[in-house]
Amino acid sequence: MKVKRGIYGYDKYLLKREKEKQERLERKLLILSYYSGSDIPHCIICGLNDTDALCIDHIEGYGNKHKKDERIGNIYEWIWDNNFPDGFQTLCYNCNRKKQVRNNETRERYVYEIHRNQDIKYK
Ligand SMILES: [Zn+2]
Repeated sequence: MKVKRGIYGYDKYLLKREKEKQERLERKLLILSYYSGSDIPHCIICGLNDTDALCIDHIEGYGNKHKKDERIGNIYEWIWDNNFPDGFQTLCYNCNRKKQVRNNETRERYVYEIHRNQDIKYK
């Protein structure tokens, strides 16, 4: 019987997938570093450097609308493909959320506005 050497079939597939996952992670860290203006990715507001708690924020806000309009599945892939465009910053989830609330970007606010307008209309 001939013995196959090397990695074949499903193992090869798993190895490839693992490699792609690693590449995505490296890209993500590179992007987070770039938009925090430092070699160490961190939130530009509070300085938190836990990469699990960091995200990319649209400086102008309404990131969800941008993602929807451009049909962006993964913002990191998009930033990578578009050669690191301006208009983004690295924030932690807390600061990102606080910014949304402060700027009235939240969905809750949107729903509240609709209800408030309806209240006015039916008075
Ligand atoms: Zn923060």
